[in-house]
Amino acid sequence: MSTYTYSAGPGMLPKEVMQEVQQHLLTFEHEGISIIETSHRSESFQQIVDSLEERLRRVMKIPENYAVLWLQGGATLQFSMIPMNLRKRKRFAYVDTGIWSKKAIKDARLFGQVDLLYPRIDETGEMSFDLSLVQEVDYLHVTLNNTIEGTRFTDIPETNVPLIADASSNILAEQIDVERFGIIYAGAQKNIGPAGLTVVIIRRDLIQSAELPSYLHYASHVDTLFNTPSTFSMYVAERVLKWIEDCGGVEAMERLNRKKSETLYTFLEQSNLFSSLVSGKRRSLTNVPFTTSDSESDRRFEQFARERGLHELGGHRSVGGLRASLYNAMPIEGVDRLVEVMKAFEEETYVSHQNI
Ligand SMILES: *Cc1c(COP(=O)(O)O)cnc(C)c1O
Repeated sequence: MSTYTYSAGPGMLPKEVMQEVQQHLLTFEHEGISIIETSHRSESFQQIVDSLEERLRRVMKIPENYAVLWLQGGATLQFSMIPMNLRKRKRFAYVDTGIWSKKAIKDARLFGQVDLLYPRIDETGEMSFDLSLVQEVDYLHVTLNNTIEGTRFTDIPETNVPLIADASSNILAEQIDVERFGIIYAGAQKNIGPAGLTVVIIRRDLIQSAELPSYLHYASHVDTLFNTPSTFSMYVAERVLKWIEDCGGVEAMERLNRKKSETLYTFLEQSNLFSSLVSGKRRSLTNVPFTTSDSESDRRFEQFARERGLHELGGHRSVGGLRASLYNAMPIEGVDRLVEVMKAFEEETYVSHQNI
């Protein structure tokens, strides 16, 4: 029986990469020396950093006028590093689309005034914004994919202030036009590699001098390893990026993710028991929340699925229900298997009802 995890993060990593990492764990440079024991200042580790950055630049088409920083502290630390580093007018605009946006807003408020924007959403899921509100601000912040709610941006607002994107749950899963953004940031643990690593892609003109503790200052990290980074996570991330390139890049990932999510949404549309919590164009390609409309039966399904090797199907603790995260490493077989198990649960539910 194949086992799959639909965890929202840390998420599944490609099996081939995990096997490779296991095989080389004790023999990175020489027999008996692990990557975990290797200096971040060594030549061999520098090769990993260089290759990691080159691969990311290739798959995301990141131009030279952007720097790529490898930090720690998760996407969460960026919620404060961004306003700290970019504040000039001390006024920021945030699009509020969900729980992660709200967390970013809360931290930004410590550094200036925050103007909130709410998207207008028509019946097809098309988004529009009143951008007259975005005036005299240092930047506009958006959360590209709402991991918890299972919604995504369909129309990126046109603005003349730097656009900052939290791409934690859709980076490398769908194409992102880097040049439209001032900063794109993401925790690694959903689509890039193990936890403990955060990538910040920043247009170089936004890196300014600021009176900040050295680690929190973007300038400290440009084109250099400022302090000991998350070496093991970077090593694995480099292998994941190689895997993505071998699979055909982000275009291929997006095609596969569309197919995977459509398979699940299509089943949810016709199911008599399960239903999707999001409709139309806004449906996320990577995080699919659904429910049986009864919390007791949602929990029973989670258990039913777990007994069949399908793990982490519970919704986020703040919203409940069920959720399947289908990041890059989830094969189409994992989605087919989920649908099969959902059908079996559905049948069992109706049979037991008939018996009453
Ligand atoms: C997971 C997630 C975060 C938090 O990431 P950490 O790396 O745990 O800080 C922030 N934003 C979004 C959209 C997420 O999905």
